[in-house]
Amino acid sequence: LPSEFINAQPVLQKIQAAGFEAYFVGGCVRDVLLHQSIHDVDIATSAYPSEIKELFSRTIDIGIEHGTVLVLWHEEQYEVTTFRTESTYQDFRRPDQVTFVRSLAEDLKRRDFTMNALALAENGTIIDLFNGLSDINQKVVRAVGDANERFHEDALRMMRGLRFISQLDFTMAPDTLAAIEKHSQLLSFISIERIRIEWEKLVLGRARNRALRLFLATNCFLYCPQFEQQIEGLQKFIELPEKQLTEVEAAWTLLMDCLDVPERQFVAFFKEWKLSNDTIKQIQKTYQGLQFRKHFPWNRWMVYTLGAEVVLRVESLLAYYNPEQSFVAIEELVQLLPIESLKDLQVNGHDLQHTFQKKPGKWLSDTLHFLEKQVVEGAVANQKVELLQAAENYLAGICEK
Ligand code: ATP
Ligand code: MG
Repeated sequence: LPSEFINAQPVLQKIQAAGFEAYFVGGCVRDVLLHQSIHDVDIATSAYPSEIKELFSRTIDIGIEHGTVLVLWHEEQYEVTTFRTESTYQDFRRPDQVTFVRSLAEDLKRRDFTMNALALAENGTIIDLFNGLSDINQKVVRAVGDANERFHEDALRMMRGLRFISQLDFTMAPDTLAAIEKHSQLLSFISIERIRIEWEKLVLGRARNRALRLFLATNCFLYCPQFEQQIEGLQKFIELPEKQLTEVEAAWTLLMDCLDVPERQFVAFFKEWKLSNDTIKQIQKTYQGLQFRKHFPWNRWMVYTLGAEVVLRVESLLAYYNPEQSFVAIEELVQLLPIESLKDLQVNGHDLQHTFQKKPGKWLSDTLHFLEKQVVEGAVANQKVELLQAAENYLAGICEK
């Protein structure tokens, strides 16, 4: 057993000693079997949340109504969730109400895919009620039980299935795939936020293109914001080299470069996907940098205005267009920059007003911008006397016009 499980074993033992059942469940069991790193160790138990809280001195209620208590144990924390069923599905979404049960089998039955419906006992035995082990060995995503029913209960599972294809480099079982084709329109009942989480995991996965082909073939794309009219662009995206993407900002930038959406409509596009303003800004900058870099080498001003992070991201994206592209030493370019932002300029607005005895106005921001550019490009040294001299020449030039 990996160390993450060894560390958590005492938690299972403690629950068992109190007369309850407890198992490792879900993604962590799957990932261990796939020899992948595990991010969180989840525990399922027959104990009710109140019973778990009595057993452990340090707990946090993170979803009591769903049966989940966070148990703090040494340096670690574990989500401990009571066995439950989700009996009453409405509107094709996971229910707000769950029913706690005392049986592991009932709990495993309501899980999405066979590979996610495995439990690992404290002694290392695997409980495999739905042939999840064999599906993992064959790298197949298969719904637990009747696929049609499962997607009817919670339509998000279709997007989850596609993202697991991409993340794990699996294929889809034929009946599961057929059920997605049949029920894709149920995705329209699912919130954008939940769809976006799965979509972003899908595009960041290593078998992105296989998952995307199924995303198109099953018509799931029709029920994602803004994609309905973009089938050609999405196909273009699939034709890019299948080099794994590591950041959502990079993924969205590459996608927008394939889709037929004018840049002035990006904000509206991303608002529909409910991206944060900050992320939208990052994508816009990366996109602008990419368009520039496709035609020109970097210059100091571009590196300065976009910032090192965006420039590095753009540089990594060039590999999707020209795999032979050699990387530019960005660090050198960044180090060449005499200032990082306007704040580093050795004169400010006050200095300029004082020197030229003028009221603030457009001249002031124009002059500052001019000086900023001169300094970044190395034409003027970042020293007060030289900057004021350059400002004087600049203002004289403007007055002449
Ligand atoms: P990841 O590695 O991305 O966290 P995961 O399998 O752990 O993958 P989670 O969303 O963390 O995914 O969910 C944990 C477990 O809960 C899953 O393995 C699955 O058993 C179950 N589960 C999650 N979402 C659903 C769902 N929509 N329907 C049914 N079961 C689900
Ligand atoms: Mg998880």
